[in-house]
Amino acid sequence: ERTQDADAAIRQTDSDAALARLSAVKKGYLTDSFIGHLVPRSQLQLPRPPLINVGTYVRSYSIDHLVEEWISISKQEHKPCQIVSLGAGSDTRFWRIATGPYNDYLRVYAELDFPEVTVKKAMSIRKSKQLSTVLGPPENVSLAQGGLALRSPKYHLLPCDLRKPPSEILPSLLGDILSPSSPTLLLFECVLVYMSPEASSNLIQWFVDYFQSSAVSPNPGVLGAIVYEMFGLQDSFGQVMMNNLRSRNVSLIGALPYPSVQTLPERFTRHNFTMSKALTLREIREKFIPKPELARISALEMLDEVEELNLVLDHYAITWGVDLDPTPELSSVGW
Ligand code: SAM
Repeated sequence: ERTQDADAAIRQTDSDAALARLSAVKKGYLTDSFIGHLVPRSQLQLPRPPLINVGTYVRSYSIDHLVEEWISISKQEHKPCQIVSLGAGSDTRFWRIATGPYNDYLRVYAELDFPEVTVKKAMSIRKSKQLSTVLGPPENVSLAQGGLALRSPKYHLLPCDLRKPPSEILPSLLGDILSPSSPTLLLFECVLVYMSPEASSNLIQWFVDYFQSSAVSPNPGVLGAIVYEMFGLQDSFGQVMMNNLRSRNVSLIGALPYPSVQTLPERFTRHNFTMSKALTLREIREKFIPKPELARISALEMLDEVEELNLVLDHYAITWGVDLDPTPELSSVGW
C-alpha cells in the first residue's frame, strides 16, 4: 500500500506541471491553447508565483528549441521523425507540433504514462473538440484497453509502468507503431528522477538495442534523447528541495547519482551515445534565450527574487544526446 501511495504522489507531480504551465500561459509567458483542456476545471484559477512562471518558461523554451531543431533536421533529410514521450503526463507538445509548421515531418508521437494518468488524458481528449480534431477524422481515432489507451494515425497514448523490465512492456506497446529506420527522439521531461537509476538505464538501453538491432544499411535508425530533471541535490538548497518533495511522499531517487551538471551526460554516454551534453536552466536563460525574449518576459511580472531564481535554475538541467547518427547534422543539435 505504501508503494501505491508513493505512486499516487508521483502522479500528482503531473498536476503541478500542468498547473504551472497553465499559469505561465495565462500570464503571457507561453502560448498554448491546449493546456486548459487538460486541467480539471476546479483547478483552473490558481496563478503560480513569478519565480515558478519564469522557471516554467525556461524549461518549455529549452525543450521546444531542441525538439524543433530535431524535427527541422529530419525535415532537411526528408525523413519524418518519431517522438516518444515517457512520463508524458498532461503535456501538450503533440498538439502544438501537429498544428504548427512541422506537422508534415512528424510520423508518430507516442506518449507513455501510468494507466491512471492515460485514462484521464484519453477522456479529456475525447471531451474536447479542440484536442480531438487534431488527431484526425473520428473514424481513425479509437480508445483501446478499456479506455486506458488511445490510438490515432499519428498520436498514441499508452499506459504502462516504466519501472518494469522494458522488454516485457515496450514491444507490445510500441512494436506496431515505431519504424526502426525513422529518426526517433525520446523525451524524458521530469520523469527519470522518480525512478531508480537502474530502471532508467534499462529503459534507455532498450531503445538503443531496438534501433541498433533493426538498423538496415543505408537507412539506420537515428536515436536522440532529451532529459529534463533536477540534479545537484547534495548541496544545502538541493536538500531543501528534496525535503519538500519527501514531505509529499515523493522520492528523487533518480537524481542522486548526479551531483553536478558535468555528470549528467553520463545518462547517455554510459549507453555509448555518440554525443551528449547538458546545460542548467540558468545557463540557458543567461546565455541562449534571445535578449528580446528575455526583455518581453521580464516585463510581464515583477520578479524580486532574482538570486532565488538563479538558485532554483542552477538545480535543473536539460541533457540531450544522439546515438547511431550516420550524419554530422544531428550531433550538432542544441547549443
Ligand atoms: N512530462 C510531463 C511534463 O513535463 O509536463 C509530466 C511530468 S510529471 C512531473 C511526471 C510524470 O511522469 C507523471 O505524469 C507521472 O505519472 C509519470 N511517471 C513517473 N513515473 C512513472 C512510471 N514509473 N511509469 C509511468 N509514468 C511515470
